[in-house]
Amino acid sequence: MIVREILAKSILSKSQVYDYVVNPYVGCSHSCRYCYAAFMKRFTGHREKWGEFVDIKINAPELLAGEIRKKRVGRVWVSGVCDPYQAAEKKYRLTRRCLEVLLENQWPVTLQTKSSLVLRDIEVLGRFNDIEVGFSITTADEKIRKLFEPGASPIEERIHALDVLHSRGIRTFAMIAPILPKSEGLIGRLPGKVDHILIDRLNYSYANRIYKENKLEWAREDDYLVEKAEELRAGFRKAGIPVQVVFQQMQEGR
Ligand code: SF4
Repeated sequence: MIVREILAKSILSKSQVYDYVVNPYVGCSHSCRYCYAAFMKRFTGHREKWGEFVDIKINAPELLAGEIRKKRVGRVWVSGVCDPYQAAEKKYRLTRRCLEVLLENQWPVTLQTKSSLVLRDIEVLGRFNDIEVGFSITTADEKIRKLFEPGASPIEERIHALDVLHSRGIRTFAMIAPILPKSEGLIGRLPGKVDHILIDRLNYSYANRIYKENKLEWAREDDYLVEKAEELRAGFRKAGIPVQVVFQQMQEGR
């Protein structure tokens, strides 16, 4: 892993998903094979493979403290194109310090991760008036997880983290996105640990090689994804959990 410390010019960016997004890192050591953020390389000039580098924006908390004084309050997404609790966060604590800045000003936050390291900051999270913490969990099978998300926390750790956060009264959600093989095993494991669930299909081709090499191409077919989304939706609704299937909503909205 190539790690560089850099000075960022700005940190609180406009987002199309929420009002703002904060990315304390460039790159992501979780190295998910399907990662949509791999497109970032086009803008950052990195030659290394996605997942093999991370730039540390060491001035992120100070920048954020200055920028929120000049901007209107809005919901902040942490993070959009990196995992805020990837391995480097253990040492650099940039996400934690950015959260402390947001907390001081009580800006609403949506945090999204695949790492149980988020539990380190549970005391900070618990002091927000408006926060939700989401875990992406794409399959219930560790073998599949290791193929597609080699650097992220094991599934059991993510579910445990959701359980701990939820039991502390922090709003939680799971994103089954992208739907990977054996996601149906999550139906029995998430109830009681999340307030809502988002489901989406894979929208990018970065993982094509992994599907091919592992003879999993069937799991990219439309029929499979639609059927699986329906199975997940029905299972979670039966358990009383609100569910949104993003790709179907998009199709319906066309
Ligand atoms: S955790 Fe998110 S940002 Fe990081 S590699 Fe995986 S999909 Fe990409």
